[in-house]
Amino acid sequence: MNHPLGALAQIDTSALVHNLSRVRLIAPNSRVLAVIKADGYGHGLLTVAHALCDADGFAVARLVEAQSLRAAGFTQRIVLLPGVVDAQELALVAQLAIDITIHHRAQVELLEQAPRGLRVNVWLKIDSGMHRLGLCPAAVAEIHARLSRCDVLREPLRVMTHLADADDTSKNTTRQQIATVRECSTALNVELSIANSAGVMAWPDAHADWVRPGIMLYGVSPFASDCGSDHELRPAMTLSTRLFAVNDIAADAAIGYAGTYTTPEAMAVGAAAVGYADGYPRHVPNGTQVLVDGQRVPIVGRVSMDTITLDLRAHSTARVGSKVVLWGDGLPVETVARSAGTIGYELLCRVGSRVPRIVGSL
Ligand SMILES: *Cc1c(COP(=O)(O)O)cnc(C)c1O
Repeated sequence: MNHPLGALAQIDTSALVHNLSRVRLIAPNSRVLAVIKADGYGHGLLTVAHALCDADGFAVARLVEAQSLRAAGFTQRIVLLPGVVDAQELALVAQLAIDITIHHRAQVELLEQAPRGLRVNVWLKIDSGMHRLGLCPAAVAEIHARLSRCDVLREPLRVMTHLADADDTSKNTTRQQIATVRECSTALNVELSIANSAGVMAWPDAHADWVRPGIMLYGVSPFASDCGSDHELRPAMTLSTRLFAVNDIAADAAIGYAGTYTTPEAMAVGAAAVGYADGYPRHVPNGTQVLVDGQRVPIVGRVSMDTITLDLRAHSTARVGSKVVLWGDGLPVETVARSAGTIGYELLCRVGSRVPRIVGSL
């Protein structure tokens, strides 16, 4: 197909389906809440929800995302991870049958003060050791009793916790977190959810009743030193563009803003139509790789807003119009993220709003 000038994100929905089947295979006794926050990790909320409609539910981090899913006709369970902040939001989630977590005493009070007849599904979020959000384990029995009394629960209370270090299997913190949360939930005899992707992949003890995978559904590894393909996951996004110039540059010429690269010899330098405005990270160093017609070539010079420049010495057939893959099929986003000093999560969810998401293959 003819690519318009600029970056495109191809979304491979069969990869999403495949990755969900990997979750099912790894955690066969757990129900799956597919985490599709942040616009489905940049892939497009509704595209991802359609592809993953066999999940047992969805989790999002903003009320508008839950509302969009309901407006689009999704009737599955939807968990609003941060919960609600006031009575108006509570009324809205109750009306739309959106599950909420509660992680703070103010939210318990909001539920106790709810109008008679209001019913909502609630997941009690416990701080088992991450110390970011959640109620302390010692308060759980009391809050469970208070919520049971106030007649606001649609289904029995569930318990959730979040793992801080599940991607680092050398640490003991995950084992401790699992033990802490299991202790509270067993005493209450309630359903439990612990595992993010790293929990699903590395900590069978964390599987419990519900798993909450995010990044692995998009084909990306949560671990620092490998890639999704090492776990039989398939990348769901391929970010690509085209070369729109191939220039013969003389030796000893500084390329791009601030001239961070000087040509060691006369050479072909390609310009590809992608930049930080598309979400390609500005701070990748010289030498970061992209694929030009399937072959790896290094970036030379700074990434600018709309353009990157490429060393084409090893690629004699590259020409204006050649396809340039920034990440995805053939070039894991994990590799680019490591060059940029970040994680695949950030690159995926920062793909710019001007980048069309195209479903299917080109
Ligand atoms: C984002 C998130 C997840 C998913 O995490 P991944 O590492 O992407 O699998 C699970 N649970 C909560 C509470 C989250 O915020």
